[in-house]
Amino acid sequence: MYREHIRNFCIIAHIDHGKSTLADRLIEKTGTLTQREMEDQVLDTMDLERERGITIKLQPVRLIYNSEDGQEYILNLIDTPGHVDFNYEVSRSLAACEGALLVVDASQGIEAQTLANLYLALEHDLEIIPIINKIDLPSAQPDVVKQEIEDVIGLDASDALLISAKEGIGIDEVLKAIVEKIPPPEGDENKPLKALVFDSYYDNYKGVIAFVRIKDGMVKPGTIIKMMSTGREFEVTEVGTFTPSLKPLNQLQAGDVGYIAASMKDVRDCRVGDTITDAKNPASEPLPGYKKATPMVYSGIYPADTTQYEDLKDALEKLQLNDAALVFEPETSVALGFGFRCGFLGLLHLEIVQERLEREYNLKLITTAPSVIYRVTKTNGEVLEISNPVNMPKPQEIEYIEEPIVDASIIVSSDFVGPVMDLCQERRGIYVNMNYIDINRVMLQYKLPLNEIIFDFFNTLKSRTRGYASLDYQVSGYQKSDLIKLDILINGEVVDALSVIVHKDKAYEKARKIVEKLKDSIPRQLFEIPIQAAIGNKIIARETIKAMRKDVLAKCYGGDVTRKKKLLEKQKEGKKRMRQIGKVEIPQEAFMSVLKLE
Ligand code: GDP
Ligand code: MG
Repeated sequence: MYREHIRNFCIIAHIDHGKSTLADRLIEKTGTLTQREMEDQVLDTMDLERERGITIKLQPVRLIYNSEDGQEYILNLIDTPGHVDFNYEVSRSLAACEGALLVVDASQGIEAQTLANLYLALEHDLEIIPIINKIDLPSAQPDVVKQEIEDVIGLDASDALLISAKEGIGIDEVLKAIVEKIPPPEGDENKPLKALVFDSYYDNYKGVIAFVRIKDGMVKPGTIIKMMSTGREFEVTEVGTFTPSLKPLNQLQAGDVGYIAASMKDVRDCRVGDTITDAKNPASEPLPGYKKATPMVYSGIYPADTTQYEDLKDALEKLQLNDAALVFEPETSVALGFGFRCGFLGLLHLEIVQERLEREYNLKLITTAPSVIYRVTKTNGEVLEISNPVNMPKPQEIEYIEEPIVDASIIVSSDFVGPVMDLCQERRGIYVNMNYIDINRVMLQYKLPLNEIIFDFFNTLKSRTRGYASLDYQVSGYQKSDLIKLDILINGEVVDALSVIVHKDKAYEKARKIVEKLKDSIPRQLFEIPIQAAIGNKIIARETIKAMRKDVLAKCYGGDVTRKKKLLEKQKEGKKRMRQIGKVEIPQEAFMSVLKLE
């Protein structure tokens, strides 16, 4: 039977433990790509992924595996991202699989994301195959890691596979275990079509490409499909599989992982999590959807060049199809003009979206300081959700403000427990628990305000622990807190895009740091510029940018014409990212500098 020979699986791990390398080896071993086609980390297709060395988008690939007993198997592998911001991508790939390879670095052991991903896999009832990677390293301690897997995860690790993805050791055993341990998909090709959309992207020629897992039925070119959430119908133009590039097939049927193209032109016609069925013979019920990814962090994104507003809108719409967690709506700012309020899963997600917009869509952007969603109860009983400090009601109208709180787990070697506790303390954390996961390593649990985590928490944690700490967190609820809005005035005018919400006890410190930072990032101009921070009408910090005496060209002492030209060009380039606030020109960096105050 066809389905008996399919295995759908993913690889889950903490970042850098070797998912992508293992995926490369599996592709190589099964001869899916020839040596010449092999490039390191073939599944990390975005430039950004290669540069940062992290996987952002999940990327499916179909492997053909000939087992020792002469059977041919189709292995559908879905690589997943490991970073805390991209958990929702993991969850989506899991729903298309029956099993998961849990990869743990033999020299590092279990990290925060190992646990977070494992819990997600268990929620989806997946068969877990524990794999200990990097056994080639001198510092590898496979036995310690095995013990951790048993003690912390409660998984039988006696037959955990010991491999080196880099050296290609133990890869055959991995393939064997996939076939033996992961169950084949269930489903019925004679039932009405039910296909789960787990990802999608927009192709200029083929329209929207939907990545699907077929649960029941079959689909081929010519089938009229119906999207169950919207009722819209399309004729299928192409179906196929991933090699990892798109490879057309005659049909897809129950158990398969593949893609459907149907000349869908509107990105909103194909929602991730939706069920595709056959319009002529529809299923009665859709498949259970995914947990929707909820944005946690909001920020304003504005075109540096105001004429690019429509381009930005278009780019955001296209990006959203590929990135289900990105949300946006139009917003205007006195300082920045027309732009969008965008919601992200976290700061890394924000940075990635910003970079993708700039690179892939050739836009220049100004991004404002990120904010979490505050819940404000007004004295008249009205409750508001505020994701932009500008919309915060006046202090006298506010009964109380609540802010999102996260449950954070931090895994770190016991030497660094002190510095980590200090950091959590500084960030208004409340200690919950601490336990040893082996002799040298500790898991600390804290309740922390999300607002404290989005401002450089992870980087600070890394630097104070020499890169050894790992962090995972989930929003667990809201809590009343003494928060106030801090306004920034430049040359006497409030710059709305620079307002931030801070805890009362930290207002002075923050105000001082912000005005100092701004002083450094705004170039001198022909007149003196006061920079002030205020709570309501009360000024609590001030710096002054002195007036500039000489023109920038004066530095060139006549003579060198090319140098002068270069300077002028540089100035012009810089201007595009400047914003005129009253008489003052403010560069883009100023808006972002408020982020990094450490
Ligand atoms: P991912 O973030 O889980 O996808 O991890 P990668 O596959 O990108 O690997 C992270 C780093 O670990 C890369 O520098 C790899 O070359 C390295 N790596 C992966 N597997 C092994 C291994 O078996 N042994 C050693 N020594 N290094 C490995
Ligand atoms: Mg990777």
